[in-house]
Amino acid sequence: MSRHHDVVVIGGGQAGLAAGYHLRRLGLDFVILDARTTPGGAWQHTWGSLRLFSPAAYSSLPGRLMPPQEGQTYPDGAHVIEYLTEYEQRYGLPIVRPVAVDAVRRDGDRLRVESGSGEWRARAVISATGTWWRPFMPAVPGRAEFEGTQLHTVEYRRPADLAGQRVIVVGGGNSGAQIAADLAHETDLTWVTQRPPRFLADDIDGRALFDHATARRRALDEGRTDTGGVASLGDIVAVPPVREARDAGLLKAQPMFARMTATGVEWADGTTAEADTIVWCTGFRPALSHLAPLGLRGPRGHIPTAGTRALGEPRLHLLGYGDWTGPASATLIGVGRPARDAARAIAELLAEA
Ligand code: FAD
Repeated sequence: MSRHHDVVVIGGGQAGLAAGYHLRRLGLDFVILDARTTPGGAWQHTWGSLRLFSPAAYSSLPGRLMPPQEGQTYPDGAHVIEYLTEYEQRYGLPIVRPVAVDAVRRDGDRLRVESGSGEWRARAVISATGTWWRPFMPAVPGRAEFEGTQLHTVEYRRPADLAGQRVIVVGGGNSGAQIAADLAHETDLTWVTQRPPRFLADDIDGRALFDHATARRRALDEGRTDTGGVASLGDIVAVPPVREARDAGLLKAQPMFARMTATGVEWADGTTAEADTIVWCTGFRPALSHLAPLGLRGPRGHIPTAGTRALGEPRLHLLGYGDWTGPASATLIGVGRPARDAARAIAELLAEA
């Protein structure tokens, strides 16, 4: 049996909730389908010491400020889960869990959303499934020969699990720097980055990044010259644990190795390092396989969009994922605006029909 709604939102992480907030404000009939059994999206699966790169108030979804976390300027993942749980209750968002959507197909004037738990028909769909579910590891020669343990960011939990081991952390972004800092005291650590790590100035955090993204959006909206993405400022926010490890001289990065061996890694000049565990902090790809039947895939595994709207299917919006669906749309504070734009565009589409 198929259920009907004006809008189906796929994914009940922060992006799905922000969409729900704006759909509700516009009085639209919608449902949010989420594959997990509990609220919080990807934040349920992060490591224990993770810290947000912005203070609480700068990590808020539309309508409700994130309260500060006692004793912490930069809240942890558990605090975000609490906030998101409270947020969906406060706004009475209609979320059905667990529903893992397998496919979205065209079905006359509707889109059909299929899952193992049944199907939904909708006049418009917002896909907000995030990236956490598609960890990316680069192809490196010899990887299959390595006899130690390999983890991706998504599998890393706490330093005690690797205490006393020879560990290589790969990746020069925030995850790599935070996990390297986390491991610096309890393991024999080698930190490897593709290019020399670029720390943002100590007084720059997510607030400044967001302001930069906002200025860029304004410039683009007004047809002025592109000021460049936040990447032009640096890659790593020096949150307190990263700053401490860096200042203690524990975060000295090596360049990327050329190949892996049975016992470790080898650089192009023949230098080697032994390792028990390699932690790959090498990013993510958008989780879009459920949209494959629509045949919209473009370069780099993305679906081409104008703002959040899929170019090849005007009834479909993509929310979150990365800057390609709106500046800072894959952040807590940044997703509000594209969520509002998507909800408004859908309201207009439905009104025209
Ligand atoms: P998710 O949180 O991944 O939510 C997607 C939801 O969709 C999940 O609940 C999932 O179960 C569900 N889903 C997936 N596939 C399906 C399917 N087929 N059917 C149904 N449901 C499905 N942002 C900040 O603002 N501040 C930070 O400090 C910050 N730090 C970060 C640190 C790390 C290590 C990472 C990786 C990201 C960080 N981010 C930060 C970025 C961003 O806020 C998160 O990635 C965020 O979780 C993205 O939210 P989302 O709702 O788009 O996706």
